[in-house]
Amino acid sequence: MEFTYRAYEALVVLLREQGYTVQNYRTWEDSARCVILRHDIDTDLAQAVRFAELEAEVGVRSTYFVLLRTDFYNPASKQSLEKLRHIQALGHEIGLHFDEKAYPDGAPEETVARILHERDVLASLLGTAVTTVSMHRPSKETLEADLKIPGMVNSYGKTFFHDFKYLSDSRRRWREPVEEIIKSGEYDRLHILTHAFWYHEKDEPIETTVGRFVRSANRERYMQMMENITNLPAILKEDELFNENL
Ligand SMILES: [Zn+2]
Repeated sequence: MEFTYRAYEALVVLLREQGYTVQNYRTWEDSARCVILRHDIDTDLAQAVRFAELEAEVGVRSTYFVLLRTDFYNPASKQSLEKLRHIQALGHEIGLHFDEKAYPDGAPEETVARILHERDVLASLLGTAVTTVSMHRPSKETLEADLKIPGMVNSYGKTFFHDFKYLSDSRRRWREPVEEIIKSGEYDRLHILTHAFWYHEKDEPIETTVGRFVRSANRERYMQMMENITNLPAILKEDELFNENL
């Protein structure tokens, strides 16, 4: 499968053709054949917004999981919150993407308490309830713990990880041929994780995607500096800073 918006749209069409109804983590039992579409926002909120708009255009609702403790974006900033609220306004759900590596090792009860704390922070930022969680690069222990989190659905719980057929495009690579598995009709329950970061209008190599993201940070930082210092161009000229060919 190509990593393009068109290919993702075709995937949604294929799911429908094969009789799958798009459900979420609470409604999946309403359909004999269901698919849960999940997106972990590991790096870039803007890409997630683009993807959320695409999904709204094709009439599907999914869940976007947001990190609180990342250096890539700040979910508490005004711009980030506008993006997250926009995703919600399109009919999608915002869940918590939890990074256990942001904390020292802890017993499962401690992990649960940390998740609930982050849940409360995210819910208060958004002003809405947050009732789902997914794990960012979970350890084997966390995967096997089948954590029960009061008031929350754990997308890495036994139900969604074992009773569903789980398919993921992590590191821009499907571990299994996703389209063939959908066509096979072998599974009544699918749990599909995609990362919006990898998808664009045209298929492109991984180095292009990652390279553009890294370079764009430079411009973003310049614009942030502009808002925080008087007459930045007198100190640093914009055109001297950026060379798109680097
Ligand atoms: Zn992640």
